[in-house]
Amino acid sequence: MAIDKAIWSKITLVDGDITKQNVDAIVNAANHTLLGGGGVDGAIHRAAGPELLAECRTLGGCATGSAKLTKGYRLPAKYVIHAVGPVYNDGHHGEPERLAGCYRTAMDLANQHGCTSIAFAAISCGVYGYPIADAARIALTSVAEKLAAGGSVEEARFVLFGQPVFGQFQAVLDELAGV
Ligand code: ADP
Repeated sequence: MAIDKAIWSKITLVDGDITKQNVDAIVNAANHTLLGGGGVDGAIHRAAGPELLAECRTLGGCATGSAKLTKGYRLPAKYVIHAVGPVYNDGHHGEPERLAGCYRTAMDLANQHGCTSIAFAAISCGVYGYPIADAARIALTSVAEKLAAGGSVEEARFVLFGQPVFGQFQAVLDELAGV
């Protein structure tokens, strides 16, 4: 599906910390237990406080390629959407479909809860080992398609942790948006 230029302008990239984002929902890169981990998940749980883990314990985990929503507790964001990305093997074991599923489900949940702004972590781009440029193409395309389909979300922000990941997302976004 060809994506209109106006849609790409709803996607922004920042080099920063997702726990500090003033948006309606942030999207965590969780593991399937939803019971805490390292990386961005650890940072989100530390910033949100112990009530977040208490709510996650009630959810019964989450399938890879999907996502579940909780409150944001002490975070500036009202909601946390916990997405479970795939561990990267070779790209031929369902990883692209599962990674896209995380972003699509997160956008659906945000729209269902009337969110106007959402901030994403780079799901699977840390210890799960997804090649960054490949992950960026899937992430940006999946979110742009959902924005084009309509809903409450007007701003989708990707919060990239450090210049190497930010730079790769920027290059892919420039290419997709035809900049
Ligand atoms: P995964 O297990 O899905 O690969 P990780 O938490 O290991 O998840 O990493 C996902 C991405 O989140 C990586 O690019 C990592 O650098 C980044 N990250 C780590 N801490 C933060 C943070 N506080 N804000 C935003 N991104 C972060």
